Amino acid sequence: MAQRKPFIAGNWKMFKTREETRVFFQALPQLGDEVDVAVAPPFTALETAVEAARGTRVGVYAQNVHWEDDGAFTGEISAPMLNEIGVDGVIIGHSERRQYFGETDETVNKRLRAALRHNLKPIVCVGEVLEQRRGGDTLKVIEQQLEGAFEGLGPSEAINVVIAYEPVWAIGTGETATPEQAQEVHAYIREWLGKRFGPDAPKQMRIQYGGSVKPENARTLLEQEDIDGALVGGASLDAEKRAQIIRFGSDKKFS
Ligand code: PEP
Repeated sequence: MAQRKPFIAGNWKMFKTREETRVFFQALPQLGDEVDVAVAPPFTALETAVEAARGTRVGVYAQNVHWEDDGAFTGEISAPMLNEIGVDGVIIGHSERRQYFGETDETVNKRLRAALRHNLKPIVCVGEVLEQRRGGDTLKVIEQQLEGAFEGLGPSEAINVVIAYEPVWAIGTGETATPEQAQEVHAYIREWLGKRFGPDAPKQMRIQYGGSVKPENARTLLEQEDIDGALVGGASLDAEKRAQIIRFGSDKKFS
């Protein structure tokens, strides 16, 4: 059974022009084979990133994808369009999409199916808001989001999905879940994957942590048994911080 490889992805949100994307790739450090790395620029910079990433080990991900291949869906981008420019994968169900753009578990499921249908590697985000954590509902919320996202999918499809656990209260706030809080949820997700998809899924599927990850906290988070990598927002925009987080990812040892 292949061992899971640490995976560090950067979500650039609505930051970086095409020119800034080019400059960013020029500062990219040499990457070893022991860690997978990806960046998710805005749609307008995707093609630039694909070109700049050629010959490197950096994957290029979109931040969203529509579930139809084409149609009257103003403002949306489809999986075949992403395929055409050589994009590798897509982030689905980010909390900012859920919070500001009406994303639901049902639309996450539809987008996920479209990504899988078109061989885009999906990162599916789940996470509780502060009131849900305070109310002791975190694990229930995570389970509901997972059930919704994976509705109708079987193990052979699920195995291609990366899950990002991102507590909403920790995104862009400077607040980070403690390593123990994060590990508890990651272990729960891994257990759920085993129940839902059988014993191979939890061994093979990667679960990233996201929420104010930065060089100062990345090491201890990545040391946790069930944290296989990170989805990094703010700190991924800075080449030096990003390089440090990737180094901690490379050091990750699975027991
Ligand atoms: C994110 O955008 O997925 C994220 C985790 O952002 P930040 O690292 O800035 O909290």
